[in-house]
Amino acid sequence: FTFNQLDLKVQKSLEEMGFESPTPIQKEAIPLALEGYDIVGQAQTGTGKTAAFGIPIIENINSRERGVKAIVLTPTRELAIQVAHELSLIGKNKGVSAYPIYGGVSIERQANILKRGRNQIVVGTPGRVKDLISRGLLKLDRVRFAVLDEADQMLDMGFIEDIEEILSKTPREKQTLLFSATMPYEIRKLIDNYLKSGYKTIK
Ligand code: AMP
Repeated sequence: FTFNQLDLKVQKSLEEMGFESPTPIQKEAIPLALEGYDIVGQAQTGTGKTAAFGIPIIENINSRERGVKAIVLTPTRELAIQVAHELSLIGKNKGVSAYPIYGGVSIERQANILKRGRNQIVVGTPGRVKDLISRGLLKLDRVRFAVLDEADQMLDMGFIEDIEEILSKTPREKQTLLFSATMPYEIRKLIDNYLKSGYKTIK
C-alpha cells in the first residue's frame, strides 16, 4: 500500500518528506500501532523505524493538549537529535514537535524549553531524562506513548535501571513500542515487565 491509502492526518508532511510507500517495517508496524498494540521490532537503523513508530504516535497526538504525550529513549545524543528532527518533520503540519534532551550540555536550557510546554514529544538519552524527572523539570504523567529505540544498545551502555525508573514514572495506560536488533535476556525481561501481554513482534 501507499501512505496515501491510509488517509493519515500526517499525509501532507509525508509528501513533503518524499515518503510515498512504507518500508517493510513501516508496512507491518504502522497499522498495528494505529490499532493500539504494543510492538516489539527487531529492526536495524536504516530500515525506517523512526517513521514506523513516529507516524502512528503523531497521528494520535492532539497538538492542543498540553504536556508531554510521548517519550522516546535513545542510546546516544546523535540519535536523539536525528529522531527528534524526523519526528518534528512528520508532525509539522499537525503542530506536533519533538525536542531532544541529552547530557553533556546545560540542563537549564533544556529545562527552560521543556517549561514552555510546546513539545508533545521528548526524545532523550536515559541519564539526562532521569535527571530532568528527578529535578521536577520533566513530567511524564500525561504520557500515552513510550518508545525504547535501540534497546539493546541502551542495555550495553548500562542504562537499564534508568529506563525502568523512567517507565515507572509514566502512566500504566499507554502504548509501548520497543526496538532492538538483538534480544538478550534483560531486554526480554523488560518486554515481559512493561509491555501489554498482547504485544506484536515485527522482524
Ligand atoms: P531510520 O531507519 O528511521 O533511521 O530511516 C532511514 C532513512 O530512511 C531516513 O533518512 C528516513 O528519512 C528515510 N525513510 C524512512 N521511511 C521512508 C519511506 N517510507 N520512504 C522514503 N524514505 C524513508
